[in-house]
Amino acid sequence: GFYHVNIPQLPPDPLFGIKASLAKDTRENKVDLGIGAYRDDHGKPWILPSVKLAEDLLHHSADYNHEYLPISGLKKFTEEAAKVILGEESSAIKEDRVVSIQSLSGTGSLHLAGTFINKFYRKKDDASFRAVVYVSDPTWSNHMQIFSSCGLATTKYPYWNDATKQLKIDQYVQAIEQAPKGSVFLLHATAHNPTGMDPKPEEWKRILKAISDNGHLPLFDCAYQGFTTGSLAKDAWALRHAIDSGDYHFPGILVCQSFAKNCGMYGERVGAFHVVLPEHDDALNSAILSQLSKIVRSEISNPPGYGAKVVSLILTTPQLKKQWERDLITMSSRIMGMRKQLVVELQRLGTPGSWNHITEQKGMFSYTGLTPSQTEKLAHDYAIYMSKNGRASIAGLNPGNVKYVAKAIDDVIR
Ligand code: PLP
Repeated sequence: GFYHVNIPQLPPDPLFGIKASLAKDTRENKVDLGIGAYRDDHGKPWILPSVKLAEDLLHHSADYNHEYLPISGLKKFTEEAAKVILGEESSAIKEDRVVSIQSLSGTGSLHLAGTFINKFYRKKDDASFRAVVYVSDPTWSNHMQIFSSCGLATTKYPYWNDATKQLKIDQYVQAIEQAPKGSVFLLHATAHNPTGMDPKPEEWKRILKAISDNGHLPLFDCAYQGFTTGSLAKDAWALRHAIDSGDYHFPGILVCQSFAKNCGMYGERVGAFHVVLPEHDDALNSAILSQLSKIVRSEISNPPGYGAKVVSLILTTPQLKKQWERDLITMSSRIMGMRKQLVVELQRLGTPGSWNHITEQKGMFSYTGLTPSQTEKLAHDYAIYMSKNGRASIAGLNPGNVKYVAKAIDDVIR
C-alpha cells in the first residue's frame, strides 16, 4: 500500500510557495517580485497585442479546432521556431542539419534534452561513458531536478562572484577545461536566470572555444529571447555565433526554446527542442526525430495545439511578426526603465552599498545582493515578495510601487 513512511512530505516549491504567501497577504500595497512573468505598468498580466491579433485570426480560420497535433507537433510551428532562434539565414537550417520537435514549453524541452542525452549521448570507444551536465552556479533551480529526473548527474561550474557582482570568467573557463571530455555544458542563451548577467561577446568566445577544444556538448537554454535587448537577433547572438562562425567544432548543439516569456503564453506551454548536428546526415536526422517522437508519445502522446497555432500565425504573418517585435521592445524597455528608476531612487535615498549592478544586469531578473533575512523582512514588514536568494523579478516593479520598494530596501539594509 501507500505508507507515509515511504512518502515524505516535501516543502512547497520555493517560487510557487512565494506565490501562495502573496495570494494570502491581504495588504493592499503588496508587491510581487517573485515569479518571472511580465507585468504591465499597473502590475497586471499583459496579453501581447500580437498574440491578441493572432488569436483573432485563428478563431476565424479553418484551422480553428481542438484536434490532436501530430506527435512531433505542428510542423509550421517547429520550422518557424527554428528560424526565430537560429536565424532565417542559419547555415544549419540551409544545410538541413536541424532536427526540431515541439515541447511542453522550455521545461518540457529541457526534459526532452535530458532524456535524449541519457539514452543516446555516447562515446564510440567507451561503452561505460555517461555524461555529467554542468550548470552555472547559481542557475534556475529547476535545472537540477529536471536532469536528475532524466537520470543524469549534474555539477556546477563557477559563474557569479557575489562580492564583485561580476562573472567569474576565469574560473568558468578553467572548469570547462578541467571537465571530463564529452561533458554537457548548460548555457543560458540570454538573460541568465537568476543573476541577469550574461557573458560579454569576448567572454562567450572564450567559453565556446574551451567547450569546443575540450570536446564538450553545449546545451543552450533559451527562455528569454527578446527580453534582454528587445531584439531577437541580438539575444540569440551567442548561439548563432556558436553555429555560424565556423570557429568551433561541437559533437552537436542542443537548443531548448521557450515562448512562455517572449510571447506571454506562460500557461499555454509553447516550446521546441532542436538538435543541431555538425553535418548533414539524412539517416541520422530521421533516426533522431523517430526517437524523440517515441519519447513524446510515451510521455504526453502529442503536444498542446492552441499556443503553437497562435505563435505560428505570429511567425508566418509579416504584420504580426512586426507587432511581436514591437511588443518585445515594449516589455524589455519597460523593464530597463524600472531598473534605472530603482537605482535612481536607491541613490537618492543614499542607501548603503553600490547599486549599479541592477542596471548592468539584463532581462527579467536582478540578483540584488539582498540577503535571506533581508528578503524575509521585506515580505514580513512591507509585503514585498522575492526569492530568498535576493533575486527580484524586475517586471513586478511599476511607477506606482518603485519608490515604495526602494524605501523598503533602504529600511531593511540600514
Ligand atoms: N529555463 C530558464 C532559465 C527559465 O528561467 C525558465 C522559466 O522560468 C525555463 C527554462 C522554462 O520555462 P517554461 O517551461 O515556462 O517555458
